[in-house]
Amino acid sequence: MNALAPPLALLAELTHRCPLQCPYCSNPLALERASNELSTAEWKRAIDEAAAMGVLQIHFSGGEPTARRDLEELVAYARAAGLYSNLITSGVLLDKNRLKALCDAGLDHVQLSFQDSDAAGGNRIGGYAGGHEKKLAVAKLVRQAGLPLTLNFVVHRQNLHNLPALFDLAVDLDAHRVEIAHVQYYGWALKNRAALMPTREQIEAAVKTVEEARQRLKGILVIDAVVPDYYAKRPKSCMGGWGRQFLNISPSGKVLPCHAAETITGLNFDSVRQRGLADIWQNSEAFNRYRGTDWMPEPCRSCDRREIDWGGCRCQAFAITGKAAVADPACGLSSAHADLVGIAEIESAAQTDAFVYRRVGGANAGPLKEPVPQP
Ligand code: SF4
Ligand code: SF4
Repeated sequence: MNALAPPLALLAELTHRCPLQCPYCSNPLALERASNELSTAEWKRAIDEAAAMGVLQIHFSGGEPTARRDLEELVAYARAAGLYSNLITSGVLLDKNRLKALCDAGLDHVQLSFQDSDAAGGNRIGGYAGGHEKKLAVAKLVRQAGLPLTLNFVVHRQNLHNLPALFDLAVDLDAHRVEIAHVQYYGWALKNRAALMPTREQIEAAVKTVEEARQRLKGILVIDAVVPDYYAKRPKSCMGGWGRQFLNISPSGKVLPCHAAETITGLNFDSVRQRGLADIWQNSEAFNRYRGTDWMPEPCRSCDRREIDWGGCRCQAFAITGKAAVADPACGLSSAHADLVGIAEIESAAQTDAFVYRRVGGANAGPLKEPVPQP
């Protein structure tokens, strides 16, 4: 194998705490308790180790990263270590003072999530009353602070029809970029698949909407969007390939090749509490299991796309087939592709719109939570 390049970016999941309860949240079903989160000193050590490895960017994420009182301190520490920092946030705990403190600490960029284009939909999907209105205010504060803004839209059957309105919202809020992310079906989203799966007609309409918006908004708004796996013919290069470009540290310090890797059973993830980050990246069993092409069976092994998409997503392969070491069923050459398409057709026709909301210790649909105070 060639010498292993360092990862480009570190996703620092500071906490699983979050006031919202999105039914597609990428956090695991067993959410980490606050008492088991890495301390400030442990995060600083991880940041030092990441910078020493050659990592260039740090994405502060969660849960809701602003639920950590030491976020400003960690942003300042990352800046001093030479890392570009990005805050991925729901925004609902931010205010003018907190944003100023984050700017002063050296934050480079904000990615703000919206659950829908309007308050009724957004607050229902996020399970948080008043959240949408708060996000609108926070987006304005981010721009007033002079920070570049990306809006994240996770799209699915219950909000895809609002895609044009989501683009209008991004322009109104003076965002630089929007990221349209179709729901990935593992963890919480797998529990909610029948309520979230879009129809093929919706996807076809969305592709046209994105193309039209890209032309119309050229020079105004950058639009990142990919066709969702369930309706694709070839998979995307998930995370740029397992253990090739990214690493993720969970709130308790587990180092993962992607944020959903814990959905694959039988993999052991080392912790920054016990082992150095560079050692984990280079030598850990979990990172090496699906790195490169040696693990691939046919049809990937002899496929000319094997170093383009790296066999697609291991988590999706596991979710659909029970095996992680097979081609992603999103690939038309996978023997499980018909199963995937069948699932999409059946689930997208489901009559249920009820959600199983993401919450600590339980997974039942329930009423909206009231806004919680700033911690
Ligand atoms: S997806 Fe929703 S619930 Fe999950 S961390 Fe983000 S805002 Fe919170
Ligand atoms: S066979 Fe494997 S490498 Fe080839 S396109 Fe499909 S998933 Fe990618």
